[in-house]
Amino acid sequence: MSLAKFAVGAGLSLAASVAVQSPNRVPVSWVPQTPIEGSIALLAVGPDTTRNEISGVRGTVAGEPLHFTRGEDGAYRAFIPVPVGSPGRVFASLEIAKKKGAADQLLVRIPVARREVEVERVRVPGRYVEPPDSALLARIERERAAQRAALNRAHRTQRIWSGKFSWPGLYRVTGTFGARREINGATQSVHLGLDLGAPEGTPVLAPARGVVSLVGDFFYQGKLVYLDHGSGLSTGYFHLSEVLVNRGDTVEAGQAIGLVGATGRVTGPHLHWVARYGRLSIDPQSLLELSELERGMR
Ligand SMILES: [Zn+2]
Repeated sequence: MSLAKFAVGAGLSLAASVAVQSPNRVPVSWVPQTPIEGSIALLAVGPDTTRNEISGVRGTVAGEPLHFTRGEDGAYRAFIPVPVGSPGRVFASLEIAKKKGAADQLLVRIPVARREVEVERVRVPGRYVEPPDSALLARIERERAAQRAALNRAHRTQRIWSGKFSWPGLYRVTGTFGARREINGATQSVHLGLDLGAPEGTPVLAPARGVVSLVGDFFYQGKLVYLDHGSGLSTGYFHLSEVLVNRGDTVEAGQAIGLVGATGRVTGPHLHWVARYGRLSIDPQSLLELSELERGMR
């Protein structure tokens, strides 16, 4: 991907795609120019080099708050989620506060590329696909709620990582993000994580600095860890044989957080790696490119 090109060319296809309600328009740009669904892009407001009049930027994409920071160049930047299933575009709703006068309200239309997906056929034990009884249903709902709470928490945490996201010590992709799954020949689902193959007991490493926001032993996910990286970003690690951290721990990039296993709904030992912006599922491989996006926009 040629990020340099995007960085130069992204000076906004303003034309008809953006509604600006204030005469004091400032440039809005993003990289990549056409992000793929299920990824993270980087949006910039400003710099407003002539007047230096912006006092802050707020916004949302797909109902998730954005976390803008002001760069040395005076531009405000935030990562934005591009949800799976975006029908060709996503809208960023922005409020640009001014030092004087009313805030600008902008609705920015960002084109989104479709993801090419595979169809995978997997077989799992019947108890994972049969309709759960009421006790199991209650457990699954409790476990969903715990995950939602952990994911929401990342919006209230400052960004605590710097540099880049790395692979979690495992590199062999055995199941791609977004693949449509046929489970036991029937039930269809979308695979909203990245499967990484490794023998049972292989250490799983934190890809970046984070706070452990959830650990547990869940019905579908097995033994799991969630890391809160701040600014809305979380990552999760499922099917572990062992968890090596406690909730509330701060972990550094490269620190072992668990061991690969085959707990929960699995066909064999592997890591199911998930990335979320708020509640939205993102391809974890998109995280590996965040530092390039930031470099490309400077
Ligand atoms: Zn998986």
